[in-house]
Amino acid sequence: MKIGVIAVQGDVSEHAAAIRRVADARGVDSEVVTIRESGLVTECDVLLMPGGESTTISRLLASDGINSEIEAHVERGKPLLATCAGLIVAARDPQDERVQSLDILDVTVNRNAFGRQKDSFEAPLDIDGLEEPFPAVFIRAPLIESVGDDVTVLADWEGSPVAVQQGPVVATSFHPELTADTRLHELALFDDQQSTAADDETQPADDTPEAHQ
Ligand code: GLN
Repeated sequence: MKIGVIAVQGDVSEHAAAIRRVADARGVDSEVVTIRESGLVTECDVLLMPGGESTTISRLLASDGINSEIEAHVERGKPLLATCAGLIVAARDPQDERVQSLDILDVTVNRNAFGRQKDSFEAPLDIDGLEEPFPAVFIRAPLIESVGDDVTVLADWEGSPVAVQQGPVVATSFHPELTADTRLHELALFDDQQSTAADDETQPADDTPEAHQ
């Protein structure tokens, strides 16, 4: 399995480490490819789009021609997990003309709304498909203001969606890659997750919520 991590900017190494942990725990033969140029996305089975700075990420994706490759990946129904700035770049309407949106997720976001209210915080979050609360780390997080009919809300926090799914795309306002808990990566990127959830070996031994910042 080839796993692509969009690596033009942002917390790339954390995502790569998280997905390696998942693949190792599942005994999946995997290769992690960091993507900074066009021509690599098409080889990938799944994609991760990390947090960082959405205006910078979207500008670099567009100038390198990676944006249309990501759009094609999703059109083919291949999984993509987008977190924080990745969610903003994926959104149909980022409400900021400096973000060159991929328009692969039918949501409207307010880029820094969450962050201004509460700069960074961690909260236990109930997420559809996960049995126990997930330790969600929010850092200058985007607020999802509205979702389209085809979007499923997987989790909300204080009345706003913070984890959503539309077809093969799962997106979160928070940073699952900054904890030792890999369940969200599994939920988003391994579609057999439900059937193997009861298998102890799929659960990482060091499941303790722990932020690495
Ligand atoms: N608010 C940032 C942006 O607009 C995203 C923050 C993050 O990814 N931690 O890009």
